Amino acid sequence: MREIHMVDLKAQYEKIGSEIDTVIKSVLESTAFIKGPDVKLFEEELQEYMGVKHVISCANGTDALHLAMMVLGLKPGDEVITTNFTFIATVEVVALLGLKLVIVDPDSGSFNISIEAVRKAITPKTKAIVPVHLFGQCADMESLMELAKKHNLYIIEDAAQATGADYIFHNGTTKKAGTIGHIGTTSFFPSKNLGCYGDGGALYTNDDAFAKKLRSIANHGMKVRYHYDDIGVNSRLDTIQAAILRVKLKHLSQFNAARRAVADLYDKAFAGCHSITVPERVRYSNHIFHQYTIRVKNGRRDELKKFLESKNIPSMVYYPGPLHMQEAYRNLGYKENEFPVTTALCKEVLSLPMHPDMEQEQIDYIALNILKYFDK
Ligand SMILES: *Cc1c(COP(=O)(O)O)cnc(C)c1O
Repeated sequence: MREIHMVDLKAQYEKIGSEIDTVIKSVLESTAFIKGPDVKLFEEELQEYMGVKHVISCANGTDALHLAMMVLGLKPGDEVITTNFTFIATVEVVALLGLKLVIVDPDSGSFNISIEAVRKAITPKTKAIVPVHLFGQCADMESLMELAKKHNLYIIEDAAQATGADYIFHNGTTKKAGTIGHIGTTSFFPSKNLGCYGDGGALYTNDDAFAKKLRSIANHGMKVRYHYDDIGVNSRLDTIQAAILRVKLKHLSQFNAARRAVADLYDKAFAGCHSITVPERVRYSNHIFHQYTIRVKNGRRDELKKFLESKNIPSMVYYPGPLHMQEAYRNLGYKENEFPVTTALCKEVLSLPMHPDMEQEQIDYIALNILKYFDK
């Protein structure tokens, strides 16, 4: 059996490496390292795949969120509501722009932002909501869009963990995660479902004016060369990364299907185990399992993690500490016990190895050891 990793980019490279080598070499020979032809081609191909009018590539997923907040023209003191159970990047850009960060609990089942909690947090100063499609499954976008319409708010979808997930509307139609709100953002960090070999990110929008302005501010606020209409930043996707992403995009549907198949096997193996809860699958989204995250009951998570380590099975805690208890965010003034769902999740969640190249033998070995631990 191969050594088990949370994410196995080496196994993937063994399969698609020759395609990757060819396109990297061709960029090296062209020397078009910045804004080379692959960047535009990748944007067009991703547009097509996502079914969205505009894809604007940028340097990473954090920048994508930053650019999204910049283009909305939010002012210091404007309130932005997001979930307490996410990666730090989601809240960091809100704080950096001097906006007022309002965090709310997620739903304990789906791990995604609680609509009830959002509803209670809306004030006359609220300007935007940032749902995060956590672990590869969409937040309840239809309810959020309804709230946004009613209160005249923007929705920025953080789809960094959900590239390729489908949102399923009540009427049965679907849209890709990130293309439903006013702006969607994603990351091509190597371990993401669509990852490059370094940093990369992108924004999605169906709004022509946002798209135009985003392109400008991601490139120093420049529309015509050396004329600056907006205060911008330097945030671009390298040509080499774009070329790699063009190769990987062709495999994305198959990669995501392979992740789902791994999740199905885990679900089946754990069906009779009452000491853990397998990931909930909501009716309004398919799940592309960026992470397969179980909840471990009775305070046994850390001990299980250690036991698995002793069997050479890696596992990770996403996320170990609630954002409101992080030193950098103490000044928000939240009290320790204000977010019972986040606090409970941080103590119970455990993400198991999950990637498209997992072997049946590895999955069986992981499941067997988890079941063995609880039988003890
Ligand atoms: C990875 C991630 C980001 C940031 O992406 P980078 O490309 O690493 O900057 C933002 N939000 C979420 C939810 C993520 O998982």
